[in-house]
Amino acid sequence: MSITTNILNLNKEIPADVVLIAVSKTKPVYALKEAFDTGQRHFGENKVQEMIDKQTQMSHEICWHMIGHVQRNKVKYMASFVHLIHGVDNLPLLMEINKQGHKNNRVIDCLLQIKIAQEETKFGLNAEAATDILESEAYMAMTNVRIVGLMGMASFTSNRAQIKQEFEFLKVTFDRCIGIDQNIKILSMGMSSDYDLAISCGSNMVRVGSKIFGERQ
Ligand SMILES: *Cc1c(COP(=O)(O)O)cnc(C)c1O
Repeated sequence: MSITTNILNLNKEIPADVVLIAVSKTKPVYALKEAFDTGQRHFGENKVQEMIDKQTQMSHEICWHMIGHVQRNKVKYMASFVHLIHGVDNLPLLMEINKQGHKNNRVIDCLLQIKIAQEETKFGLNAEAATDILESEAYMAMTNVRIVGLMGMASFTSNRAQIKQEFEFLKVTFDRCIGIDQNIKILSMGMSSDYDLAISCGSNMVRVGSKIFGERQ
């Protein structure tokens, strides 16, 4: 199936109030352009340099999502244009994003990444640490970064019941954060294999790669 068909099918399936991010990491610019021509405007990349390379070659209408783990020293390269940084899981990184937002005279939107998977390798905060950041004096003083929601990745497993449990935990955490901070509105959860489950658990932003662009090498 073509990229165009895949996106049209996803748009039919996904509710209108859920944002579809086309995760285009490792894919060539011509593939992104085919997606763009169907009307797709949200793209996700997990490496800063790759995102910049593509951003310079494509329409300025695109909203670029950084969905990977971000190193502090890379923030400055994307600070002028990035639409949303999904993987924020520590206060020093948030401080650097604030600093670069200030330099670029803008407010940069971020999501706190919550660790919901069983695996040891996954990045992310626990729920407690996330609410601590939202309530911290340090964050309150930041003028050029805004936490607008949460992001999480479920375990790499075929056990749907486990994935559902992890998504439900993230939704509970999200609801708790909404009660703390009125800017919280985005819940980024769900990928190609589990976006349907994520949406049924309350996700309003899904990150879909292989189901649009095909398997990655
Ligand atoms: C690669 C990636 C995705 C998309 O994965 P698919 O299984 O190809 O849909 C989603 N979220 C993150 C954080 C990723 O790194």
